[in-house]
Amino acid sequence: MTHDTPLKFIIVGASAAGLASAIALKKAGHNVLVLEKNSELGGPVTIPTGGVRMPPNGCKILFDWGLEAEVRANAVVGEGFTVYKYEGKDGGRDFIGTHRWDPELLSEARGDFLQMRHRDVLRILYDAALREPSKRQLNGHTSRPTVTIEFDAECTAGMCSSALMGPLDSCVDDFWPRRLTRGTTSRGGLAVYSAIIPKALAVTDAEIAKLYEYPQKNMVSFSMGSNRGAQAFLAGKDEDVVFWVYTPDSSQDGNWMQPAERNIKDILGLCDPLIERLATLAGPATCVQIKKHYELKSWVSKSGKVVVLGEAAHPFPIISLHTYSIAIEDGAFIGKIFSHTRNPARITEFLHAFELNRKPRCSHIDADEKQYINVMALPDGPLQAGRDAAMRANEAAGRNVMDSGDLDLQRMWDDMRMVFGYDPADDADEWWVSWGRLRDAPNASKGKGEDIADIAQCAE
Ligand SMILES: Cc1cc2nc3c(=O)[nH]c(=O)nc-3n(C[C@H](O)[C@H](O)[C@H](O)COP(=O)(O)OP(=O)(O)OC[C@H]3O[C@@H](n4cnc5c(N)ncnc54)[C@H](O)[C@@H]3O)c2cc1C
Repeated sequence: MTHDTPLKFIIVGASAAGLASAIALKKAGHNVLVLEKNSELGGPVTIPTGGVRMPPNGCKILFDWGLEAEVRANAVVGEGFTVYKYEGKDGGRDFIGTHRWDPELLSEARGDFLQMRHRDVLRILYDAALREPSKRQLNGHTSRPTVTIEFDAECTAGMCSSALMGPLDSCVDDFWPRRLTRGTTSRGGLAVYSAIIPKALAVTDAEIAKLYEYPQKNMVSFSMGSNRGAQAFLAGKDEDVVFWVYTPDSSQDGNWMQPAERNIKDILGLCDPLIERLATLAGPATCVQIKKHYELKSWVSKSGKVVVLGEAAHPFPIISLHTYSIAIEDGAFIGKIFSHTRNPARITEFLHAFELNRKPRCSHIDADEKQYINVMALPDGPLQAGRDAAMRANEAAGRNVMDSGDLDLQRMWDDMRMVFGYDPADDADEWWVSWGRLRDAPNASKGKGEDIADIAQCAE
């Protein structure tokens, strides 16, 4: 039996994961309804939106979707990072070394490191999701897939922030089974304060203005402290300064839309003069705790018709390098596998394939991100001294700070290469060629109640 009617999907949440999934599912020829609880994209502007680092694995998807010009027009191209001691030295800055992204790595990965603003990323995805699609020809019929986005549309039963479910007609009763809820979370010890300093203000301070000189202009400035840290980089078309401070000094459990209870200046502790100056100029900040999340047993609901995506499925520590790129990868992967079917009886199997393929990568990156924060915010002691000595030795030898040395720096760096080179469309096609298409053969499908255990076994 041929299936020539597009599937209908509902996506909960018009943010990175939801909008990327909408784009990819529309490209696959399906119809999508996105429900967003806020009244506008990115929520009400109670505080200036923060910064995003988009690594090559995220950029390449956006480029492949034809968004390169738009993305580049809203980004500063990152060329690497400089490392300093948070606490400074003798009242000044204490420079440790530099790491420049290897052009060969970027060309292998088909992407760049782009420094953007949260709202710009959402706007680009939103416009692309709603842009008029080209007509698709299927079995002699021409169809034009659609994406509809509704604001002020809260899915009240949900605890998860992003979800995708399908088909529309048959799963209303299935929404938010208990098994999908995350349960409680605990704090991880650090909180992140995030603020934006507009360029016009930043350049009024002679020291901060140096961030606008090449090569600092294209570098993220990292400051490593004892249970503390800071990052500053230019982002977006206006080249505003994004300023993040990690601190143990916060009891607040805030979010991205709520102004922090304390000023950044009040939580700095001992720090170098540039951090102090940035904090003086910083406007209102947000404060979000780095939390330990319990893992969901399964990303797919009991009925097999709902799956969680993005942050809801795999929450990374706050401001991780990969929060946006992996949410966008989720969308690209799910769109690509669903480009191979219009058969509603295969939805459950495809959602499980999504989980089976995406979970190991997300867990791996989550572990890397946590290790990365641990290494950067190491408390003073022998490990921290070893880290600093290794980085300084690399700098003195003219190498990148992460090139070799103690504390697994080389392993972390090699791992990054693998992570940046990943392409979700290739991964999805591999699943399709190895497993998915075999079950498309006549009589191969077990019908509506697909046997998930079979699929799980196959994928192992
Ligand atoms: C307003 C805002 C600003 C942010 N700013 C930054 C930043 O500056 N830097 C940074 O690194 N990260 C930021 N983040 C976090 C970042 O967006 C995510 O970590 C990452 O992009 C993963 O995206 P996501 O789509 O999985 O989840 P999220 O970005 O969390 O998106 C979830 C979406 O679902 C909506 N939603 C939740 N529950 C429901 C429901 N029941 N019904 C309908 N809609 C629902 C939310 O309103 C939200 O739009 C921000 C998040 C938000 C919500």
